[in-house]
Amino acid sequence: MKCDFNRRGFGRLGLGLAAASLLRARARADTSLPLVMIDPGHGGEDPGAIAPDGLFEKHITLATGLTLRETLLATGRYRVGMTRSTDIYVTLQGRVADAVATGANLYLALHCDHLPFAGLRGASVFTLSNTASDALAAGIATDENGVDNGPAQDFNGVSPQVAGILASLETRATRLGSNTLAQDIQSSFTGIVPLLPDPHRSANFAVLRDPSTPSALLEMGCLSNPLDEALLKNPAHREMIAQRLTDAIDLYFANHTDYRLAG
Ligand SMILES: [Zn+2]
Repeated sequence: MKCDFNRRGFGRLGLGLAAASLLRARARADTSLPLVMIDPGHGGEDPGAIAPDGLFEKHITLATGLTLRETLLATGRYRVGMTRSTDIYVTLQGRVADAVATGANLYLALHCDHLPFAGLRGASVFTLSNTASDALAAGIATDENGVDNGPAQDFNGVSPQVAGILASLETRATRLGSNTLAQDIQSSFTGIVPLLPDPHRSANFAVLRDPSTPSALLEMGCLSNPLDEALLKNPAHREMIAQRLTDAIDLYFANHTDYRLAG
């Protein structure tokens, strides 16, 4: 009886894996599916924030990004790109260029906070704004922009006047998409993933400056807080974050097919 049960269990597992594999293959081939660009923050020579016990932010962001890629592909509803899938350094401009070059429909940067007050904890989600929503958000943007904070999007071959008009037009549509994504993430996390007070903030992040791609930057928790650090080190917690993000992205695309401007 026990063997019978195990065989049935393996049968179900086998079918589940086969179905997931088919969905992944179909998703990779179907260019009509939305493309989600995941940007695991930092990498290579840039460790990002460092927890008191030496844990590097770059490892947490990459591990979560790889899990999120699998979770999204398993739905069969998305194509998924990554700005990095190994421990390498990519400039902030290079990350934005990846989203533009691939025509990504959504861009999500993954990071971990390191705040000046160890008592503060929880995730927060940021959208782009020239003026930071508060001093804490301004400080986080300064930290995340780091040393290679390059100029805003460059419109090659277009006069500055036309570029300005294009940027303002695209930014209005994109901003709506970005804010929707941030709200969907906050809703998906509420009551499940600890959140900072006022978790949706805004600041001038270099990686959010592509005017044609709705985007958000998620700080998954604070490496300066021992409770958050313990959670972020736990693969089960990172898997839960990936599932919550997948639900948020499902919600986003269920309500908004595409915020990119034609042409
Ligand atoms: Zn970071």
